[in-house]
Amino acid sequence: MTKNNNTNETTKLKKIHITDTVLRDAHQSLLATRMRTDDMLDIAEHLDSVGYWSLEVWGGATFDTCLRYLKEDPWERLRKLKEVIKKTRLQMLLRGQNIIGYRHYPDDVLKKFIERSVKNGIDVFRIFDALNDMRNLEVSIKTVKEFGAIAEGAICYTMSPFHSNDIFVKRALRLKELGVDVICIKDMAGLLSPYTTYDLTTKIKEKVDLPLHIHSHDSSGMALMSYLKAIEGGADIIDTAVSSMASGTSQPPTESLVAALKDTPYDTNIELNSLSNVSDYFRDIRKKYKRFESEHTGINTKILIHQVPGGMISNLSTQLKDQNALDRMEEVLDEVPKVREDLGFPPLVTPTSQVVGTQATLNVLTGERYKIIPSEIRNYLKGLYGKPPGKINEEIRKKAIGDETPVTCRPADLLEPELDRLARELGGKAGNIEDVLSYALFPNIALEFFEERSHGKLKPEPLEEPLEETKPALLPLLAPSEFNVTVHGETYHVKVSGSGHKADGKRPFFLKIDGRLEEVMIESLTEIVPTVAGHIEEKPSTQSTKPKAQKEGDVTTPMPGRITSIRVSVGDKVTEGDTVLTVEAMKMENEVHTPIDGVVKNIYVKVGDSVNPDETLLEIEKE
Ligand code: MN
Repeated sequence: MTKNNNTNETTKLKKIHITDTVLRDAHQSLLATRMRTDDMLDIAEHLDSVGYWSLEVWGGATFDTCLRYLKEDPWERLRKLKEVIKKTRLQMLLRGQNIIGYRHYPDDVLKKFIERSVKNGIDVFRIFDALNDMRNLEVSIKTVKEFGAIAEGAICYTMSPFHSNDIFVKRALRLKELGVDVICIKDMAGLLSPYTTYDLTTKIKEKVDLPLHIHSHDSSGMALMSYLKAIEGGADIIDTAVSSMASGTSQPPTESLVAALKDTPYDTNIELNSLSNVSDYFRDIRKKYKRFESEHTGINTKILIHQVPGGMISNLSTQLKDQNALDRMEEVLDEVPKVREDLGFPPLVTPTSQVVGTQATLNVLTGERYKIIPSEIRNYLKGLYGKPPGKINEEIRKKAIGDETPVTCRPADLLEPELDRLARELGGKAGNIEDVLSYALFPNIALEFFEERSHGKLKPEPLEEPLEETKPALLPLLAPSEFNVTVHGETYHVKVSGSGHKADGKRPFFLKIDGRLEEVMIESLTEIVPTVAGHIEEKPSTQSTKPKAQKEGDVTTPMPGRITSIRVSVGDKVTEGDTVLTVEAMKMENEVHTPIDGVVKNIYVKVGDSVNPDETLLEIEKE
C-alpha cells in the first residue's frame, strides 16, 4: 500500500464504494422526480455492469410522482428494474415512520410496506427521521432486518445551537444499538464543509465499528471537497451521480470522484470508460425533461445562510406562484430560519421542510406571523412528529394548541392499525396488497390511478411545456390574462391560468372563474372573452353567491383556497375562536375560526368550493 501524506496515521486505507443516485435523488433534485421507467430500463443493464455498491432507485418522492404525474405503478417500476439489475444492490430512501409520505403511519402499514419492498426488489433501506428522533426508526430497522435486507440508519445533518458532531456521534451509537448494518450521514442540503466532515467521520469511525456512508448535495459547491475529507476520515461508501445528472442541487459527479481516487489506496475500481456511455445516455435523456429543470440550478452559496434545501426552494416557489407572489421569495427565505427556531430547530427535510416552509410562507403572505397555523404545525407542536432537537417557542405553541399537553411517547404508539380497514375500503379496486399500500400512503392519488387503470386510461402528463402555465407573461397582448365578464347582469372575475395541447385546431385553456378552476376549448386567444361568456351562460355557477365580507361576524378565509370541511350548521351556538370550517391552501389544511360569540345565521359555502379572502363564508350573529 502506498503511503498517503494527507492521510491520518490511524486511518485504514481501503477501497471506496460508490452509490449512484441517478435513478432517484439526482432526477428528484434536478428534474422534479419526473424520469420515467422506460428511460431507466434502457440503460439499466449498463448501470448494473459499472460496479457500484448500490444504485439508489426508489423511495423519496419517486413513489408519489409515479402515481400522481407519470401514471406508473411504482411497484412495477421496482420489479422491472430488479429484473434487469441483477448484480447491483437496489437501494431506497425510507422516511422511517413517515414511510414515503408526509405523516406518521401505524406500524402495520410500515411493516407491510417494508416486507413488500424487499419482496419486490429492495436490498438496502436508508432510513431517516426528519427530527433524528431515533424512536421513529426503531420499527423500520427491526423490520428491515427481519426480512433480511440491509438496514442503513441515517442521521440528518444540519446546523443549529442544538446540533454538533458529538451529538451526531451519539445518534450513530444509538443506531448501532438498534441493529443497523451501515451508518449514513445524510446531508440533504449540502451544508457539510470539508473539515467538519473530517472531524465527524473520524469521530464516528472511532466509536462505531460499522461501514459509514456519506450522502451530500453539491448545492454549496463544497461536496467533492467534503467527500475527499470524509474518505480520509474513514468513510466507506459515497453517494454520487453520473456527471450528466450531477452537480448543483444534485450529488457531485461520479466520474470526478472515481478519477480523483484512481491509483490511490482508495481506488474505487470503477473504470471511467464504463461510465462514459452512461453519461452520454443521460445527457441526451435529460433534454427530454427540459420542462422540469429546476429554476434553481447550479451552485447557490446562500444555502449556507438560510439552510433551505434545493427541493424545498422549488416547493416554495410553486406555492408562491400559486398565490401569485413569486416576488416575495426573499422574504420567505428570511422567514424560514425564524420559524425553524420557533419550532426547536428541526432539520429541514421532508416532511419538516414542508411544515416549516408553509408556515413561513403564510407568515409572509398574511402579513402577520402565525395568523394562520395549519393542522400540520399544530400536530408538530403537539409532539406528533416526535421530539424536536431544541426548545419550542412556548408562546407559539400556546397560540397553536392552547393548554393541550403535548405527547411524549413514540408518536406511532398512538396510531391504530389501518391496513385491514383500508383493504376492506378498497374492495375490488385493489389488485394486490401493493395497491392497498399505495392507497394507504396516497389515498386520493392512488384511487384516481386505480380508476384510470381499470378503464385503460392511464396517461402521463405531457413532456412538452404547456404554453402559458409557467410563463403567464407570454400571453399575447391582444388577449387579456385577467378580466371581468358580465353575464345576465352578474359579473365574473376570470383569470387565465394555463393552456394545454392543441387538438383538432382547438386548445384547452384553464381558467379561474371567480376562483373556480374551469376549462374552455378555443381556437385562438382573441375569442377568449366571448367563449368564456358563453361558457358561464351554459354552465351557470352552482355556487351560492358569497356576499362581500363587511360585518364583524362575517367569517372569511385569510388565504385563497378550497373548503375541506364545515364543522357547524345553521343555528349552532359558537364561541369566539371555535373552528367553524377548514380551508386547504398551499396543500395544507387550515382551520378558520369564528371571530365573535354568537349563532350561525347563514352558511354560504359547501365542501369543495373555492374561496377568496374578501368573501363571507359564514355569517355569525351576536345573540
Ligand atoms: Mn438527498
